[in-house]
Amino acid sequence: MKIETLSVHAGRKTDSATGALTSPIYLSTTFERDLNGGYKKGYIYSRSGNPNRESLEKCLAKLEGGKSAAVFSSGSAAAMSIFQSLSPGDHIIVSDDLYHGTRNLIRHFEKWNIRSSFIDMTNISNIERELCKNTKLVWIETPTNPLLKIIDIIKISALFKKNNIKVVCDNTWATPILQSPFELGADLVVHSTTKYIGGHSDILGGAVITKRADKFFQKVMEIQKAGGAVPSPFECWLVLRGIQTLPIRIRAQSEAALKIAKFLYSHKNVQQVYYPGLPSHPGHKIASAQMKLFGGMISFQIKGKMKEAMRVASKVKIFKRATSLGGPESLIEHRASVEGPGTKTPNNLLRLSIGLEHPDDLIEDLSMALK
Ligand SMILES: *Cc1c(COP(=O)(O)O)cnc(C)c1O
Repeated sequence: MKIETLSVHAGRKTDSATGALTSPIYLSTTFERDLNGGYKKGYIYSRSGNPNRESLEKCLAKLEGGKSAAVFSSGSAAAMSIFQSLSPGDHIIVSDDLYHGTRNLIRHFEKWNIRSSFIDMTNISNIERELCKNTKLVWIETPTNPLLKIIDIIKISALFKKNNIKVVCDNTWATPILQSPFELGADLVVHSTTKYIGGHSDILGGAVITKRADKFFQKVMEIQKAGGAVPSPFECWLVLRGIQTLPIRIRAQSEAALKIAKFLYSHKNVQQVYYPGLPSHPGHKIASAQMKLFGGMISFQIKGKMKEAMRVASKVKIFKRATSLGGPESLIEHRASVEGPGTKTPNNLLRLSIGLEHPDDLIEDLSMALK
């Protein structure tokens, strides 16, 4: 089945008690035992399993073409379950440009003796140099945040496969609609479902999806159940509802973003545009091969400094000045100030999350603000 069909139907079933097409929300924290003391229906206590969570996990596994999924209360909790599945002494290789929260999280694991190397993964020779006998995992994010670097998933995966090193891909920005990391060679996919998958700026959530059932994923699932950073049944229900329109939303957002990126590219007050859909982008060729469309995120640098960038952000009328991404409303954000001290993000950079408004209105809004 095609991904549009899966998005509507995967993981869902008609409620056997009532015939309801849309699943009820199972708020119960606990489930009754059988007469013989067993749990034939499979649910015991909501931290270890819940029907809404199970539906969402099945759906996400199908969308990514994986074996199974574990969902979490945030994308960061999902990422953390992977780092917690490592052992002291392990080494990981991470993209130098990535979601700043993931970078900070990795730093927290240094005290548990998990060593990390942050490198530019657009250059393969950089990576081979970092490899050591304790390297257990490679963390790819593509397109990266906030510079929209494109990392070649096929090349990186091939490089590490022969060394038995796990390849993890944070697929939050591309979504399973635009990019299929398992087909390109990755072993695990991570999502912040807070973004495009939930899609409505109203829930926090995360997921780890595995290509195959193995010991490592077993650990991730143990951490999910024992650590308890699980989403509520209502949140699972909302994410599952958001997924039904994911293919349509991401297509509209990608098409609008391409138009807006072209507009910015030709604007005299814009110094540089980071959007993989532009032929001038250094990752354009790889992105064209590994993504179906180029996504809804754009970064650009204003001619000038922080003051000029802030001025543009203060003048827009439709774009909202807020962090996050992937919702129906377009967002504009001065990234360096939200990332805080130590950030390498240029001070004149603004990041856009393109929503579901008409692209012409968004272009007019930016045009007015850039005057
Ligand atoms: C937002 C985000 C995360 C973190 O997800 P939360 O749900 O905010 O914890 C991780 N990776 C990427 C690429 C993100 O955009």
